[in-house]
Amino acid sequence: MQSSTESGFYRRPPFEIVNPRGKSPVLLVCEHASRFIPEELRQLGLDDEAAREHIAWDIGALALAEALSARLDATLLVANYSRLLIDLNRPLEAPDAIPEHSEIYPIPGNQGLTAAARQERVASIFEPFHRQLTELIDERLEAQRAPRLVGVHSFTPKYRGETRPWVAGVLFGKADAYANRIIGGLRQSGEAIGSNQPYVIDPLEDMTVPVHGDERGVDAVLIEIRNDGLRTPQGVETWAERLAPWL
Ligand SMILES: [Zn+2]
Repeated sequence: MQSSTESGFYRRPPFEIVNPRGKSPVLLVCEHASRFIPEELRQLGLDDEAAREHIAWDIGALALAEALSARLDATLLVANYSRLLIDLNRPLEAPDAIPEHSEIYPIPGNQGLTAAARQERVASIFEPFHRQLTELIDERLEAQRAPRLVGVHSFTPKYRGETRPWVAGVLFGKADAYANRIIGGLRQSGEAIGSNQPYVIDPLEDMTVPVHGDERGVDAVLIEIRNDGLRTPQGVETWAERLAPWL
């Protein structure tokens, strides 16, 4: 299943830009949009169920990001490869940037990866994506259109056997005023909305918020929606409608 080099495997463009001329100050990012793994890598040795599962991607996140892009007239940067190849929301130094395990699943195709194969993923997927995101932010700052950066993610209702109580969470570092506005808005429904739950932002484990947002003085949050709320087009529309006014 492994080859010492992955040269030529990454023929698909690493990202797409939806609504590049969007007028909204909101800049949407969907780092875990895709479960695509090049055929040569044979699903990284995962069985069909694991490869379809949330470990390869964030179920429903792309549909929600697209719905928000349309509703807000916002530009959206979408990743075109599975997070299991290389996680675009992790610094390269993070041990699970190219995860050898995810939750309960070992990922055979990532174990014992050669330096050349690793470098292929960095050069083909990671670097172009982050260069593009940097450029999108640069353009907006140069045009004096202060962007607000919003990563769109989903999480699984159960993690390691435990049911998570939140229907959504907002994760943030320095952008507490912006994040609290979104949290306050969503909490009007009376549902459980996590504040830095179910995850916290950690500069050693995150890219989008600390690197593209906080370090640049740009308001940045990650929105996490429990994926059972995004399983139908109607669920996606409902979340887009709820989120849009607060972003
Ligand atoms: Zn995610």
